[in-house]
Amino acid sequence: MWIIDLIIVLATFLAMEGVAWLTHKYVMHGILWNLHEDHHRKNPSSFFEKNDYFFLIFALPGIACLAAGLYVPVPHLFFVGLGITIYGFAYFLVHDIFIHQRFRLLRNSDNFYFRAIRRAHKMHHKHLNKEDGECFGMLWVPMKYFAEQLRQKRADA
Ligand SMILES: [Zn+2]
Ligand SMILES: [Zn+2]
Repeated sequence: MWIIDLIIVLATFLAMEGVAWLTHKYVMHGILWNLHEDHHRKNPSSFFEKNDYFFLIFALPGIACLAAGLYVPVPHLFFVGLGITIYGFAYFLVHDIFIHQRFRLLRNSDNFYFRAIRRAHKMHHKHLNKEDGECFGMLWVPMKYFAEQLRQKRADA
């Protein structure tokens, strides 16, 4: 049933936000801080960061599920891999392109949702150190940021 596969893709995508939050808070700001550190202390002269290794690390489970799902008869596994991989692309679009402007694309958004998640991530970057972080999520952030941008939008209107 394709509808079940669609639900699996969506559920995996949503679950990945939780996985990303946990990983960011407890792994990237934990045991693998040495790879994440340069993302918080930007060196403007270099395009790549050690933090980019996380793309490889995060891509692996998605690719593994996609490949295994194609060749091993585990029901729905392929669609779990699809959900993980789509989340990876969304994270890249939002975090690396929209928020950090690594490519000059998607600069201006008037949408309160995108403004809120950008603002929350900028708050995350206010902290330069491993400890005392906030806003570890990417596509879902504390409600106050959404409320703030909605108020702003109403005030502008
Ligand atoms: Zn961080
Ligand atoms: Zn960032």
